Amino acid sequence: MKKSAKPVVVILCIIAVLAAAFLLVWQFDVFGIFKEYKVVPELELKGKTEITLEGGDSFEEPGFVAKIGTQDATDKVEVDYKTVDTSKVGSYELNYSLSNTKGRNTVTKTRLIKVVDTTAPEITIKGDKTVKLQIGTAYKDAGASAADKVDGDLTKTIKVDNKVNVNEKGKYTVTYTVKDAAGNEAKAERIVIVSKQSSGSVVYLTFDDGPSYNTIKILDLLKEYDCHATFFIVGQNIPGNEDILKRMAKEGHTLAVHTYTHDYAAIYTSPEAFWEDNQKTRDLIKEVTGVEAKFMRFPGGASNTISANYCSGIMGTLTEQCKDHGYEYFDWNISSGDANADGLPAAQLYDNIMAGIHENYDSPIVLMHDTGAKDTTVTAVAKVLKVGLSEGYSFEALDETVSPIHHAVNN
Ligand code: ZN
Repeated sequence: MKKSAKPVVVILCIIAVLAAAFLLVWQFDVFGIFKEYKVVPELELKGKTEITLEGGDSFEEPGFVAKIGTQDATDKVEVDYKTVDTSKVGSYELNYSLSNTKGRNTVTKTRLIKVVDTTAPEITIKGDKTVKLQIGTAYKDAGASAADKVDGDLTKTIKVDNKVNVNEKGKYTVTYTVKDAAGNEAKAERIVIVSKQSSGSVVYLTFDDGPSYNTIKILDLLKEYDCHATFFIVGQNIPGNEDILKRMAKEGHTLAVHTYTHDYAAIYTSPEAFWEDNQKTRDLIKEVTGVEAKFMRFPGGASNTISANYCSGIMGTLTEQCKDHGYEYFDWNISSGDANADGLPAAQLYDNIMAGIHENYDSPIVLMHDTGAKDTTVTAVAKVLKVGLSEGYSFEALDETVSPIHHAVNN
């Protein structure tokens, strides 16, 4: 070795010794000089690491535990919430990071935010949900608007199915459908009722409890004046009177159901007993006339309290079950009064009916009875038809275009 190389070796040796000494001190840090540099922060996410959000909902941070040494470091955690766009369907990574006080030993955690769209848009129908028109008048649909939490305004993509025929009496449905980008579909409906005449001028005469000895007389009168009515039929009166039922159907009257036995103590013992009894009449009407009855009336009306003697609360249950059994039920807003006694003077019944008609109900529905003992009802009907027609009223059978009258339920 040359003499001149010696100092270099010495310097290198000193550097090596110093480096070794530093590494020893760093490694074991017996004096705690590098503690702050060496600490590894603690970061734990609270809640789920994968969160599914409905589009349009806002993301709520479930929180995290953050510590540097023993010190709370919640406010030192860096999260970029801007990476999550909850107004757009997709998967977003939300990164959390925490470094120690010297900017070292960064710990990172990730939460996956999945934004999905399972909510259908909402359709708002403009104008009335039920529109009543007189036959022959123009119908202009007021339209609808649609909004979706993710896709925003979808009004322009609404499909309208409008089959309203203003030249034909009937109950029509205008259907609005709309789909969002995720395929969720919404549907809304408007009912359009096209009637022969403006409401109030059409009177609906209804006859309960028949057929009977008087039915033919009533049918003859209706035929004479070219009017129509509704018969709420008691099934047990059908056998032997099949031809009367056939005539009702043939002449355009409405055949409706009024139970089979009309026996309060039997029909109002349970909902099951009621529907079983009622169904027998519907079946029999179908068998005799081919007509599937869509309307019914409860014996005593939906407001009756007699049923409480047999089953508490039954009317509430039955009125709710009507639609499930495919029925609309009709009470009445005008009573002829013929149920109060047999043989009441026809003039009295006539007065009751005409007074009711003149009250201008939206759908005047008149309660009368068709039994052998109600001869004066027939006489009253003759005069009601004659005078009513001369006053500009028409008499029609109940159909689906008529708004039903429902009494308050008392049991
Ligand atoms: Zn009755």
